[in-house]
Amino acid sequence: MVGSSLPEDEAMDIEKAQDLIRRIYLERDKERGMERTLLRTFQELAELSDAISKERGMEYIIDEVADVFAWVISIANLLEIDLGEALLNKYNNACSRCGKTPCKCLDTR
Ligand SMILES: [Zn+2]
Repeated sequence: MVGSSLPEDEAMDIEKAQDLIRRIYLERDKERGMERTLLRTFQELAELSDAISKERGMEYIIDEVADVFAWVISIANLLEIDLGEALLNKYNNACSRCGKTPCKCLDTR
């Protein structure tokens, strides 16, 4: 996988990632509040979009993907949502709409 330089068992799982971001940023996230945290997430997504469309290079793009993910985790932390559980509930081993793996939905929107 591109961007993966760690052995499989050392790669961060969702729970560890959420705990890490919580420990690093929860107090800052609370001070900032949801509205501005959402705004920062949009800004990071725009930076990722820019990095991809302007072909800034894989290293830069990987960095931006990590940023976007970290900001989404911050939103989940502010709402006290367990991301691992949420993902498992919504995508329980299959597409949340058609129930197939891989997805067999006719549209790709
Ligand atoms: Zn589907």
